[in-house]
Amino acid sequence: MLYPHDFHRTAKCKHVTVAGSVGVHASREHGSAFYSGLMNCSNVWTCAVCAAKVQERRRLEVAQAVEWAAAEGLQCVMVTLTFPHYVWHKLAELLEQQSVALEKLREGSPWTKFKERNGYRGLIRSLELTLGGHGWHPHTHELWVVGSHVDAEVMKETVLRRWKSSCARAGLLDLGDAAQVAAFEAHAVDIKGWCTASDYLAKQDDSRNWGVDAEIAKASTKQGRAKGKHPFGLLKLYQEGDQKAGGQFLEYAAAIHGKRQLYWSPGLKDLVGVNDLTDKEVNEEEREAADLLGLLDLADWWLIRKSPRHKAKILNLAESNGG
Ligand SMILES: [Zn+2]
Repeated sequence: MLYPHDFHRTAKCKHVTVAGSVGVHASREHGSAFYSGLMNCSNVWTCAVCAAKVQERRRLEVAQAVEWAAAEGLQCVMVTLTFPHYVWHKLAELLEQQSVALEKLREGSPWTKFKERNGYRGLIRSLELTLGGHGWHPHTHELWVVGSHVDAEVMKETVLRRWKSSCARAGLLDLGDAAQVAAFEAHAVDIKGWCTASDYLAKQDDSRNWGVDAEIAKASTKQGRAKGKHPFGLLKLYQEGDQKAGGQFLEYAAAIHGKRQLYWSPGLKDLVGVNDLTDKEVNEEEREAADLLGLLDLADWWLIRKSPRHKAKILNLAESNGG
């Protein structure tokens, strides 16, 4: 099994020290406590802890873009792009073909004309991934900023036509298979005009569910199983003794490595006025004023970190006494 080094970063996250001591802090406003001086892996794909924090910040940026568009008299259109996938597909291959298809969707003079016609200003793309009965299901939710004159239903015809030929050229769709093509035409493109920030973010949550608790709860319901689960759900199954789920998580972590979860087309962040920060920068940014309650020396920390219960207990104490 291939095991890239970066996975190990997640295994070390909030565990391995990067300073000479570990600080215990409590936020002044919310009273919530946290440690400093520990490594942050900042991997949104494999670390539920870092994903939650980065995601929270990215949501605010998306909301800012939607606000900006409204102020400019522009329209946000939500475009969901999927393609046929089967249980025997390898995730790495699907992701490669998907990125080819996404590139082809937006190349050449027809796309330039499409942009002009629709007053297109840019897009935000969220790459999502679930695993269900038909195997891996990578898909994208995109927010396109276009003119107020655009009719999303009319636009859908063009997008479906282009997405169909892009997927066929990328090897994701067999144009000779009438049943597959019919299913593709019915489901592969979903478009909603005049979309709000909460429409878009809810769609992301639907297929992502960063909260591990929510994910586990969802995976245990019928609906959760039918809709497919987020890869974090695999970790829970592995913990319960499901070896196959462990292997699937590794396949996922290797295939998704280096992919951008949230992509903004060039120039859009500048228009909206959002700083272009990496996931690591966002993760390490302290957003609220906090008091340092105490420092643990490394020997103490090594004892504490042996037990997740002790790690949590100290933060609970800090929250009740320090906030
Ligand atoms: Zn992490």
